[in-house]
Amino acid sequence: MKNTTPIIGIEVHVELTTNSKMFCGCPADHFGKSPNTQTCPVCLGLPGALPVPNQKAIEDTIKIGLALNCEINEETHFDRKQYFYPDLAKGYQISQYDQPLSHDGFLTLDSGKKIRIERVHLEEDTGKLQHTILNGERVSLIDFNRCGVPLVEIVSMPDISSTEEAKEYLKKIHQIVREIKVTTADLEKGQMRLEPTVNVKITDASGEHLTPLVELKNINSFNFATLAIDYEVKRLVAEFEKTGFTKKGGNKSTRGYDSVKKVTFPQRQKEEANDYRYFPEPDIPPLRISNSVVEKIRTELPALPDVIIENLVVSGVKLPDAKIISKDRLALEALTAYPGFDQTKLASFIVNKKIDISGNITSQYRKLTQIGETDTGKLSAFVEKVITDNPKVVEEYKKGKTGVLGFLVGQVMKLSGGKADPKTVSTLLLEKL
Ligand SMILES: [Zn+2]
Repeated sequence: MKNTTPIIGIEVHVELTTNSKMFCGCPADHFGKSPNTQTCPVCLGLPGALPVPNQKAIEDTIKIGLALNCEINEETHFDRKQYFYPDLAKGYQISQYDQPLSHDGFLTLDSGKKIRIERVHLEEDTGKLQHTILNGERVSLIDFNRCGVPLVEIVSMPDISSTEEAKEYLKKIHQIVREIKVTTADLEKGQMRLEPTVNVKITDASGEHLTPLVELKNINSFNFATLAIDYEVKRLVAEFEKTGFTKKGGNKSTRGYDSVKKVTFPQRQKEEANDYRYFPEPDIPPLRISNSVVEKIRTELPALPDVIIENLVVSGVKLPDAKIISKDRLALEALTAYPGFDQTKLASFIVNKKIDISGNITSQYRKLTQIGETDTGKLSAFVEKVITDNPKVVEEYKKGKTGVLGFLVGQVMKLSGGKADPKTVSTLLLEKL
């Protein structure tokens, strides 16, 4: 009998939506701009040009790290990653190697399984190559507008063991980086690029075997990522059955995904880390990230989807409803703005679109719930409480300021969870006052 388990780790590249590039003042927003109009000596890597790190990009990277439960390195620095590629004019990329901005975090899947995050680091994007035909000749054109745009790399540990888990992981990362407003992460614009590394654990009569590693490069859709992983898992198993090759140093390969033919195809052999000859970037001093900076950034984080979902579930909302609501800012605001309402009911109305959250929620809700509690016995207690709790308002009323009655009615409504009939409430209030 043969048993196969995919082993998947994913590198996610996210372009930050900062105003300027990572190390110079050129605009970072490059999409659709005329080629080579947003460049300067720094991002073109001309001799003598000196990089100055973008503070906002560093803070945004810390934000991503914190959102993914990472530890932030107190001391960090940039490194040069040497490799020759035509769209990288300097001949090296400024990245981070041994001291990334953050490390050792995790992301929790709906099943409760934690996918460990190895690191979240900051680097610069490369330019773009365009292979085309000009005057009947095949040419490659280079656009350096993207060169030097801040790029964050989120590296997971190989904890993902199915395409379903991979897809969920990617969607959650996408939701988080958008939620904390560091990037628009538009996959079609290449602002989020996915690189899964895949191999398979094969258990058969002769024992346990690990197939060689394959890195799938530059995928720009969640669907393609899962299709590519699926294809690769099957290919690796078939390859193992044919050759018996197993994982060892030096046999990691790189493949692309052809979304038309729905196949993966070989690219260059993957370099090992030491082929890049990393060394600390001499033009940028090491950075010290103080605890107060980290804590300040932590306070700026909005409530994240996982926490929102958990809170909703605790307040009684069904998990599937909570998931839908967590993705909708307006719906969330509606739920928190009306804590007196039956949260589960309100949530289900929102999910079923019975309530237009941009309109008057109170009246819509009341119409739909149609409870209108008129039992004066039940309501008296609320009325008494509101009168005792608001002595100043009561005094104002007694002095003739009858307009405050509306406020008192509102307080009773709140206490009743929005269920009381307003007419009965005001009659009761008038009696007691
Ligand atoms: Zn520049």
